[in-house]
Amino acid sequence: MEYDVLIVGAGHNALVAGAYLAQAGYRVGVFERRDIAGGAVSTKEIVPGYQFDLGGSAHILIRLTPIIDELNLNAYGLEYLELDPLFFAPFPDQDSIFIYRDIAQTVDHLDAKFPGQGQTYQRFVDDWRDFSLVVRDWFLTSPGPFQLGKKMVTGPSSRLNWQKAFQQILRPYGDVVASYFSEEKIRAPLVWMAAQSGPPPTEPLTGPFVLWQPLYHEGGIARPRGGSGMLTQALQRHIEAHGGTVHLNAPVEEILVEGKRAVGVRVHGEAVTARAVLSGTHVLETFGKLLPEAHRPPGAENVRVGNGFGAIVRLALDAPVEYAAHPGKDARVALQLVCRDTAQILAAYGDYMRGEPTRDPPIVAMTFSAVDDTLAPPGGEVLWLWAQYYPYDLAGSAHWDAIADGVADRIIDTFETYAPGTRDKIAGQLFQHPLWLERELGLYRGNVMHLEMSIDQMFMMRPFMGMSSYRAHLKGLYLTGASTHPGGGIMGASGRNAARVVLKDLDRKRI
Ligand SMILES: Cc1cc2nc3c(=O)[nH]c(=O)nc-3n(C[C@H](O)[C@H](O)[C@H](O)COP(=O)(O)OP(=O)(O)OC[C@H]3O[C@@H](n4cnc5c(N)ncnc54)[C@H](O)[C@@H]3O)c2cc1C
Repeated sequence: MEYDVLIVGAGHNALVAGAYLAQAGYRVGVFERRDIAGGAVSTKEIVPGYQFDLGGSAHILIRLTPIIDELNLNAYGLEYLELDPLFFAPFPDQDSIFIYRDIAQTVDHLDAKFPGQGQTYQRFVDDWRDFSLVVRDWFLTSPGPFQLGKKMVTGPSSRLNWQKAFQQILRPYGDVVASYFSEEKIRAPLVWMAAQSGPPPTEPLTGPFVLWQPLYHEGGIARPRGGSGMLTQALQRHIEAHGGTVHLNAPVEEILVEGKRAVGVRVHGEAVTARAVLSGTHVLETFGKLLPEAHRPPGAENVRVGNGFGAIVRLALDAPVEYAAHPGKDARVALQLVCRDTAQILAAYGDYMRGEPTRDPPIVAMTFSAVDDTLAPPGGEVLWLWAQYYPYDLAGSAHWDAIADGVADRIIDTFETYAPGTRDKIAGQLFQHPLWLERELGLYRGNVMHLEMSIDQMFMMRPFMGMSSYRAHLKGLYLTGASTHPGGGIMGASGRNAARVVLKDLDRKRI
């Protein structure tokens, strides 16, 4: 056996798992298809002098976990820069609002603009703080009924009025927000932020997407200095410092099976063996491509990958962004929720349902060079414009390669109405549409969360019933990544949960 654990793909969850296993003294080998580790958490110099993230950028969920401390990632070069204000929302009439890390500051700011709405924000956060902590605990737990049930009767859960909580959880998040706030300029940014997980504001059972708003105040929003990929670079260094190896340009061609047991992988035509194989790729890659047909589990082909939902224009600018509504730096530090009103999100979703890229996109704009001077040359800026909704399969004969430039222009034009002059500052750009995300990052059908984040594919049902415990159907085969509980986003919880399962089995010599 060359390795104790062989890991397929170097996405951040796989690397988190690898780091825990290497730290526990096991021989870890990671095999990554691309020339850089990190998957959808990686950063590259795409325009000379400008560091572009290629996937996720805002680090929120991982900072609610103990991962950074347990792996001592600061010692491997990870340094987080805090964003405060957390959110900035500009409006076409030049009005704007901020949400700060400090709740009291946010309440005062909102009350000064819209009397009473700040107090409502306080009530909203107070009502849902305990629930959001329960959700965080669920995310850090293997999703069995026993484990989740136990969390419901202990800790912050025991203080919750579950009857009241269920009423809101079962609702669409758009309705939850409307039931609290009367002011559209507060509703729109909250709904737009909740929409980042994919499902639209009208989808039942999505209340939790907005009910974890208190967690933004709890853990903050941050950026690794040097780019999002510095998290995965630190994880790679950690694994290597503990005797592991991260092989790049090493696509796994097949997971090798003997009897009913995974025994290794084939890479560049060579067999590499291990006591356990942990796959961190998309579940359709693992089960649909890498496992020999005779060993594929029933059910895998029924997962709902959806039809893409977001696209992002990355811009290298030669001067900072200036919002008409708030030219100051505060606006550039925050995540910028550029969305007129909830109706704009719904209309964009309507375009998407017809198979068309939306013509009027709500945008999350990010200008992390405001807090990190390593991302752009002096005086320059990196600007990301994440927009929704964009179908992977387009209506009629349209093809992404033909329409990409026009769609990117539309996103830039929309942003230009909030920050005039941006277009003239562009020194280079990259447009990542759903087909690009599939081709380059292995995100099937452009879904950045791997699978739809709907209730039928969460917890015990992710990726599908009977496959949610990180142990796959073959002895020695394990799963991690956004295809598993708790799903997509930069969190690492799936990697940590999976590592604990693999460690248990290794320690008990089950494998
Ligand atoms: C454009 C974009 C913006 C986003 N914004 C945010 C954000 O701001 N905040 C946030 O929290 N989340 C964000 N996300 C979501 C988040 O980044 C992802 O959900 C998450 O990073 C997925 O991580 P993962 O561990 O599942 O692995 P992935 O990142 O999916 O990595 C899987 C890895 O496996 C490799 N692989 C695949 N097949 C093989 C093979 N056969 N052999 C070897 N290697 C293989 C791939 O190359 C890849 O490196 C964003 C994602 C994208 C794409």
